[in-house]
Amino acid sequence: MSQDKEQRLTGLPVSPGIAMGTLRVEARDCAAPPMWSIEAKDIPTEWERFEAALTRTEEEIEELKQRVERISGATEAAIFDAHLLFLRDSTILSKLNKELPTRLRNIESVYYAVVQNFMEVMRAVDDPYLRSRVLDIRDVLQRVLRNLKPTSGAAPQSQESTDSFILASYELTPGDTADLDQNKALGFVTETGSTMSHTAILARSLGLPAVVAVPRLVMDSRSGSPAILDGYAGVLIINPSAETREKYNTLRAEREKAYRELVKMRDLPTDTLDGRHIRLAANVEFAHEFKSIRESGAEGVGLYRTEFLLLGSDGQGMPDEDAQYEHYRRLVEACAPHEVIFRTLDAGGDKLPFEPLTEKEDNPALGWRGIRVSLSRPEIFKQQMRAVLRASAHGHAGIMFPMVSGITEVRTALNLLEECREELRKQGIAFDKKMRVGVMIEVPGAAIMADVLAHYVDFFSIGTNDLTQYTIAVDRVNYRVASIFRVTHPGVVRLMALTMKAGIPTAICGEMGGDISLTPLLVGLGATEISVGAHLLPVVRVAIRHLNYEECRVMAQQALQAEDSATIRNLSHSLALKSYPQLF
Ligand code: PEP
Ligand code: MG
Repeated sequence: MSQDKEQRLTGLPVSPGIAMGTLRVEARDCAAPPMWSIEAKDIPTEWERFEAALTRTEEEIEELKQRVERISGATEAAIFDAHLLFLRDSTILSKLNKELPTRLRNIESVYYAVVQNFMEVMRAVDDPYLRSRVLDIRDVLQRVLRNLKPTSGAAPQSQESTDSFILASYELTPGDTADLDQNKALGFVTETGSTMSHTAILARSLGLPAVVAVPRLVMDSRSGSPAILDGYAGVLIINPSAETREKYNTLRAEREKAYRELVKMRDLPTDTLDGRHIRLAANVEFAHEFKSIRESGAEGVGLYRTEFLLLGSDGQGMPDEDAQYEHYRRLVEACAPHEVIFRTLDAGGDKLPFEPLTEKEDNPALGWRGIRVSLSRPEIFKQQMRAVLRASAHGHAGIMFPMVSGITEVRTALNLLEECREELRKQGIAFDKKMRVGVMIEVPGAAIMADVLAHYVDFFSIGTNDLTQYTIAVDRVNYRVASIFRVTHPGVVRLMALTMKAGIPTAICGEMGGDISLTPLLVGLGATEISVGAHLLPVVRVAIRHLNYEECRVMAQQALQAEDSATIRNLSHSLALKSYPQLF
């Protein structure tokens, strides 16, 4: 690959926007360590830490080598000799020695950068042997980073200011994404990933342009290359020409202007032309979004993904009841008089783990996640429900349960909720006695049983991401099947219709709610509420206001007769195009 030639890598667009900057390529599966500034006088201490980490790593590798030798023999164990050699590789160490006084950053971050460059050079050589060595080097890098313990007081308080960047990585977990430095990360691009993954959802809520599922990304890109990330089209352009830059500058300005125009309409009601009100609410993951909810003109929060509180807890699980209450109260107050729907903890699956599992689950999506986790830890579940109930006294709150598969879970959850109310009553603590309770419809079994579930709860909220995953058996996070993840599959649409037939208020809170080609279908099927990431609110608002409910209803009936997903999408898209061509 020539350094200067413009190169385009294509993937799936998962979060809109255009980022222009410098690429930072992160080693496959090896996240960057925290970075902080040091002074010249700290250098000897940094080297001491590093030496101690090398010694610990050496011991670990030796131990591993002996174990493998005992089990598999000397030939297999010889691989660890290469690891040991790399650990004390003179090229790496002398480079580190040179870089540390120049960069004046903690030693792990400099070591990471040095090894990263080394790996990139090796990757660039088209030799299978050298490429396989890259994996060994990564192993050693990970071990050393793990063994580098910060000295007391050397906490990474101040992230050193380096330039902003577009992150290119093999893979990003939701945790990695949330950890991205908001002031520096302009966007990200990954080799794996899919539209419905939590990483993609987070990118949208953080407003970061993102592209995923780009084949050979890590192999074909270099840290430091100028790049443009097009989160609309799903393209990463490395070494863009002057002409391409110019084009993107114009495009970015146009998009931003169009968005500003839409935002101006934030106070207009989300009623269809023939007067049907659709509550348009926001999906929320982080506290920093609380402010933008009001600004976006949302009618409250339709989905608060409370599991994101696990991110701030350093692996200690959910914050305690009082801390949750404080947090929930702030959100309820920020949105009053509108309602905030708290979804109880939805950990597990591809999301944040509730606790480290002792054994790996073979099918995490079908395993210990959502309400199943909460029901197996009733005390923790009750702490969360009590916190929500207490917050409900300060405004308008609702609660809903994720990943429900049938009535037994709902009955048990409702009994626990009643116990919480009883406990609060006894303690004389205020709560809203009329707080609405809902169930997420994400599992086909629940959709089929919607008429029964409707007797127990006040509302449904259809999680189209999971409902699609479970209905058509397509893993929402597996990039290999991302192209067949179809929210308009007739099976999914019929289950949505069945859910709405139960006759209680029904929201759509999955990513499908933000696709304006499908707003006519959702409205026509009978959704009473749509909840989307805050940045999508302005466009969905305008879409709703240009629709005629009766027309949507007739189209949706036709869609329910369709045999395939493309026909359903086309029916809805045609009506969308006719109703609001200016949005396309
Ligand atoms: C969904 O599944 O559609 C949903 C809204 O929940 P999550 O994406 O958090 O699983
Ligand atoms: Mg879900």
